[in-house]
Amino acid sequence: MKNIIFVAPPAAGKGTQCELLVNKYGYHHLSTGDLLRNVDPSTEVGKKVHEVMSSGGLVDDELVFSLIKEHLLTLDYHKGVLFDGAIRTLKQVELYDQLCVDLNMDRGHVIFINISEERAMARSLGRLGCSSCGKIYHKVNMKPEVEGICDVCGGTLVSRDDDNEITFKNRFNTYLEKVEPVLDYYRNRNELITVEAMDNKMDTFAQIEEVLNND
Ligand code: AMP
Repeated sequence: MKNIIFVAPPAAGKGTQCELLVNKYGYHHLSTGDLLRNVDPSTEVGKKVHEVMSSGGLVDDELVFSLIKEHLLTLDYHKGVLFDGAIRTLKQVELYDQLCVDLNMDRGHVIFINISEERAMARSLGRLGCSSCGKIYHKVNMKPEVEGICDVCGGTLVSRDDDNEITFKNRFNTYLEKVEPVLDYYRNRNELITVEAMDNKMDTFAQIEEVLNND
């Protein structure tokens, strides 16, 4: 399977679509947000990382890519990897291309999940995640069977620190400033595949599957 790079505004549903793809096709899922959230906050580097994340900014390019490389080396990455939010600056486009050369990996598809700022904010503010297995829910649109409890593993559902209105706005502005040039870069090379973030996650998934079926 080819790798897939997901590029999208915050809360467009990258993580949810990756979960569906992992369950159906068995990809590896590499979310840089998850890798960074797991950096130990008691270290000097960890403190900085968590500060940047809670301000809605972007973590240093080289640091992100050293974590990506370290994590990839623990996987059988030739089976196909979903890069969830891994490329957010033009420098990261370069670092990813270099990584593909170093690891003899095909670059794969670049999929943009399109969503308006208003809808993304509503999703962000209602988002809940399982503190144990990471499954994603929404207070209104994707409720668990029992309030506050994960359907899959019984873990507690929590909101992410950066899913508040102020940080969302900063994350969205960071997206406009840093990520849109990445979209333009791939669009100009005719490599950008756009899918729409639909209210029903399966409708978005169907658009992604159509891309995979055309391979
Ligand atoms: P996410 O879970 O994808 O919404 O990412 C959460 C936060 O992690 C972002 O708002 C950034 O602060 C940071 N982050 C995730 N991926 C990257 C990346 N590729 N480059 C820089 N910072 C990142």
